[in-house]
Amino acid sequence: MPKLSIRDLDLKGKLVFMRVDFNVPLAPGGQEITSDKRIRASLPTIKYALEQGARLVLASHLGRPKGKPNPEMSLKPVAVRLQELLGEPVVMAPDCIGPEVEKLKEGSDRVILLENVRFHPQEEKNDPEFARQLAAGCDCYVNDAFGSAHRAHASTEAITRFVSKSAAGLLMEKELEYLTKVTQDPPRRCIAILGGAKVSDKIEVIENLLKIVDRLLIGGAMAYTFKLAKGEPVGKSLVEPDKVELARELLAKAGDKLMLPVDHVVAAQVEAGAPSRVVESIPDDAAGVDIGPKTIELYTAEIAKAKSIIWNGPMGVFEKPPFDAGTVAVAKAVAASGSLSVVGGGDSEKAVKAAGVADQISHVSTGGGASLEFLAGLMLPGVAALTDK
Ligand code: AMP
Repeated sequence: MPKLSIRDLDLKGKLVFMRVDFNVPLAPGGQEITSDKRIRASLPTIKYALEQGARLVLASHLGRPKGKPNPEMSLKPVAVRLQELLGEPVVMAPDCIGPEVEKLKEGSDRVILLENVRFHPQEEKNDPEFARQLAAGCDCYVNDAFGSAHRAHASTEAITRFVSKSAAGLLMEKELEYLTKVTQDPPRRCIAILGGAKVSDKIEVIENLLKIVDRLLIGGAMAYTFKLAKGEPVGKSLVEPDKVELARELLAKAGDKLMLPVDHVVAAQVEAGAPSRVVESIPDDAAGVDIGPKTIELYTAEIAKAKSIIWNGPMGVFEKPPFDAGTVAVAKAVAASGSLSVVGGGDSEKAVKAAGVADQISHVSTGGGASLEFLAGLMLPGVAALTDK
């Protein structure tokens, strides 16, 4: 990696400001953590730094408090959970800047967790003075929050100007390593599978991936905007009429690289268990809700030939069984291919878990938005700001 890793830093006796992604889901009321996956994801980096003799100032955002303190979005429950997982005291700071935080930084506690950085409007404004206060007293900066790396915020970008060295944490490093492997000279044959609701969310991703991959398999509602562009019937399927022209241009650019579903599961209502049938041409009174069996066969054969695979977005309305069949089949095919596989986005992650194949995927990204921006070929501000090797 062209950027410094935490493993390149001398951490002994240093006070390290570590940006983590502790944006955990909380039950209503904000007291109970419903999944501690994000806390666990940064444990290796935290443990590594402590083992190397560092003291840690951990910082994260949680939810969207819109620049004001909000007890329902406090990181206090995270401090409790982290302390359990780490097996050593975690001191919860009353804020992320200010005299009390400075005092904690000057003390001897090994792990300090700052309060939600988004309680201050300056965080999302990437305010340099706020960033300077965050960094005050810290010797170096480590960013392990891949899920926030596509945002230029004070704790992910501006802060790097106020420390001597800024490095990637172990989770960040792993994310970048896998995403780089599948986009820069990936093992051939290389394919991408894109699904989800909208073409508009993934235009830049499609354009960039067309330059990289040998095949681009399209599923989900996004396929119907392409079908519309080809003049094929889409019935009541979810489409973006204002993106048809763009879809036409993408089709022309892609040639036979881009594959669309050849059959569809359609239903009159998009509801779990609603009566459905398989068609090749979508009738006026129904909506496409999943890829059909012939498409599954076609896509599975393409996936089996691949040596590297990038996958983002479900093939259908997978939250509503049985319309999850196409997505689950793709998940199983990706796992069975034994290829270098990188899956991104919350829905695809849920799909590989539901299919029971998460452990057969090379890398499941923790950052949906960040991984999409990376796949779109954009430089992530939180990565660009790290110190070059
Ligand atoms: P995205 O966030 O763009 O990856 O989109 C994910 C969403 O796309 C999921 O909530 C799916 O239910 C939805 N989706 C996928 N296929 C379809 C479809 N054929 N019709 C409606 N929604 C769909």
